Amino acid sequence: MNGEEFGVVILGGGMTGLSAAYRLEQEGVDYCLFESEERVGGLCRSEKADGFTFDYAGHLLHFLNAETEKFVKEVVEEVLVAHNRRAWVYSNGAYTRYPFQRNLHGLPDSIIKECVLAYVEADIDRGKEHKGDFQSWAISTFGDGIARHFMIPYNRKMWVTEPDRLTCDWMGRFVPDTNPVDIISGAFSPSTEEVGYNVQFFYPQKGGIEVVVNSIASKLTRLTCKKKVVKIDLETKYVDFEDGSSCSYKGLISTIPLPELTSCLSAAPRSMKGSCARLIHTSVLDVNIGFSVADLTDKHWVYVPEPEIPFYRIGFPHNFSPLLVPQGKTSAYAEISYRGSHRWNEETLVSLVLSGMNKMGFAVSESDVEVVKIMDIKYAYVIYDSNREKSLEAINEYLEANGIRTAGRFGAWSYLSMEDSIRDGIKAAESFIH
Ligand SMILES: Cc1cc2nc3c(=O)[nH]c(=O)nc-3n(C[C@H](O)[C@H](O)[C@H](O)COP(=O)(O)OP(=O)(O)OC[C@H]3O[C@@H](n4cnc5c(N)ncnc54)[C@H](O)[C@@H]3O)c2cc1C
Repeated sequence: MNGEEFGVVILGGGMTGLSAAYRLEQEGVDYCLFESEERVGGLCRSEKADGFTFDYAGHLLHFLNAETEKFVKEVVEEVLVAHNRRAWVYSNGAYTRYPFQRNLHGLPDSIIKECVLAYVEADIDRGKEHKGDFQSWAISTFGDGIARHFMIPYNRKMWVTEPDRLTCDWMGRFVPDTNPVDIISGAFSPSTEEVGYNVQFFYPQKGGIEVVVNSIASKLTRLTCKKKVVKIDLETKYVDFEDGSSCSYKGLISTIPLPELTSCLSAAPRSMKGSCARLIHTSVLDVNIGFSVADLTDKHWVYVPEPEIPFYRIGFPHNFSPLLVPQGKTSAYAEISYRGSHRWNEETLVSLVLSGMNKMGFAVSESDVEVVKIMDIKYAYVIYDSNREKSLEAINEYLEANGIRTAGRFGAWSYLSMEDSIRDGIKAAESFIH
């Protein structure tokens, strides 16, 4: 490998890097993809333990774009099963269907009344300017009640950031809007219409979400794992790897997290490094538990705004595919957000999750736990605060001027789904296809 030159070097073998490589392979472009881990997949890997398969929290395929849907269905060598979402919210001791704002029925009467009255008041004032942050937007759009019982506590927990420090530019499809008719009818009886981008999802029948990335990877001829990039010389266009090897490139696509990329650029100006230091993100402790019990629940996942329960969401893989668990058993993943560093031990995390589940009415105890797999996801969600846009502008200006094309969830530093990552990878590759 030492000194070898490639037309395009791709850094990172997650969904984005693999999709970029696939597109270059199709066009016969001279490329090579380098991944630091032992195997490709990044966030889309699946881990196996004693007959259970766990993803890095729920990884469900939602298609908003017909071309990506066609691409995935053609490339994936496993049956993708379509599911109609069974998503719930656990709030004030009750389960209601997701999204919260359209399904108030089932909450205590006093909460329904508070949410509906505040919504009506907000509706009268609607159109008034809000301050531009997520909290003000939520209050002015849904009223104090829905904001106080769901929008604010849920987002505070998930982003580990005060909602008045979040901007609104991440929301898009992730926060379904509503109208007075839906709010009021959803307060009287459960809504019969499912809404939102994730009403339907696809999931592999066997093997977990990793079969998607493995299917793409199996079609690539230039892919090398255990190659952690540690230095990039922008003048000579050389990439150095941790194992002492190096290669040179004509074009470079980076899908590795921006802070990791910046740390490889020793010659980058302080101002660019300063901009990168202002980018913030959440990390997630994904606590996966395999249970010996059958019939845990038929729910796919539950959003949990309640502050006394440590996880913001809990999901149930056996409902994505029964083949993710041994026969007659079930599993759950609980997502706990944090920022910065977090010391944890398995026993404490499992007991926190079990106690949260008990509060939510799941009758599980330590003796039902068969397998535990904790995944500490360092880069989980990009936080959209008031620094993000300006910092990204400065970073991208420098990287573009120096011939680095970035793509992907943490490469481009944006709230991308798997489908978005595929599209972003393909788009990055196409900038090298003439
Ligand atoms: C908790 C959670 C739940 C999610 N759920 C869903 C979902 O249900 N549906 C959905 O569509 N999307 C979901 N996503 C989003 C999805 O995971 C991402 O959009 C997608 O996997 C991003 O792919 P990527 O290639 O951009 O990044 P990554 O998967 O992070 O890949 C980056 C790769 O770069 C490698 N790398 C890092 N540093 C170096 C280095 N120095 N040298 C070489 N390689 C390096 C990493 O090892 C990694 O393999 C979820 C994400 C999270 C965190």
